[in-house]
Amino acid sequence: MRVPLMAGNWKMYKSVGEAIALVQALKESLADIADREILVCPPFTALYPVAETLKGSNIELGAQNIYPKEEGAYTGEISPTMLVDVGCRYVIVGHSERRQHFKESDEFINRKVHLALEHGLRPILCVGETLEEREAGHEVEVVTKQVQECLAGVTGEEIKEVVVAYEPVWAIGTGLTATPRQAQAMHETIRDILQDLYGQETAEATRIIYGGSVKPDNVDDLMREPDIDGTLVGGASLKAESFTRIVKNDE
Ligand code: PEP
Repeated sequence: MRVPLMAGNWKMYKSVGEAIALVQALKESLADIADREILVCPPFTALYPVAETLKGSNIELGAQNIYPKEEGAYTGEISPTMLVDVGCRYVIVGHSERRQHFKESDEFINRKVHLALEHGLRPILCVGETLEEREAGHEVEVVTKQVQECLAGVTGEEIKEVVVAYEPVWAIGTGLTATPRQAQAMHETIRDILQDLYGQETAEATRIIYGGSVKPDNVDDLMREPDIDGTLVGGASLKAESFTRIVKNDE
């Protein structure tokens, strides 16, 4: 009943020309996929040309960040209305790289979640513990706090539009993947938190996707876990061949 979401986060890679070439290849290789949602999140500079190239395809468009204001004197920032205007359906919020390099707090991320929802953008809320936190046995506590604080004030109706991405920081871009068991355990924990907040039916309907060095050779095992409803892929989403294999997992 939960439609898998297979998302690519291109981070700060791809010129306009490279971005168009990549989505042209994906449009062809993924044209027959109808049972899962496919999403690409290019850098801001490539959003418009990618949106134009994706017209009429089964691939959706997302952004990697937003600023939580509708407009104003915020030099260098991008508003939710601008993202909707350019054709985005999703936006990544709370990615660990933004938490780490730009010191984004749960409270700030919560404001992004709210403004995205107000504008009809589906937030992909990233949460995850660092290696030190896992080694100290604090991963559940850390992720619970992130989920609760980033979703503060989000209603039972609104949560249906939210996707939670569990991305252990130690697995992002490192080549280390959480084992399917480790990932499933945390996804189950997140679903329990959602159940406490919104009730069982809503928790069962909310997608929780996994991110952290997902590759063609580990995606099948991850996707077999009952609470893993898709993947958020960084490095391996930059090449048509590997992202296609990941999207098609187990076919
Ligand atoms: C990410 O950027 O969200 C990510 C999971 O990256 P990678 O797949 O490269 O680890």
